Amino acid sequence: MEEERAIFESVKDFLRKRPRASVIEVSEQTGVPVSKIREYVREGRLVAASDDWKVACERCGREVERGRYCPDCLAELERELAPARPVEKREMVYTPRERMKVHWDRFRRR
Ligand SMILES: [Zn+2]
Repeated sequence: MEEERAIFESVKDFLRKRPRASVIEVSEQTGVPVSKIREYVREGRLVAASDDWKVACERCGREVERGRYCPDCLAELERELAPARPVEKREMVYTPRERMKVHWDRFRRR
């Protein structure tokens, strides 16, 4: 884990000095494999500054600056993953006719 941190730091340090370096350049200069550097972008630890750094969305293949998914897929996935929840009674939508009925039921109960 320490070593892993040191590898990431070396990439970060290099980018601080050469912010416009390509992925290949960083890999050659730091000895960190290109696949590892792309992993950092996927993990969101690095953000792409140029097209060369972008990674493909794992769902639709569109290029993204960081992370595993593009914003569109992320929004869709979040919707899919959102747990189903019971609707609170006060959130229920009544048609005007139903609302009248509810009103009358309440009235009658008094
Ligand atoms: Zn996508």
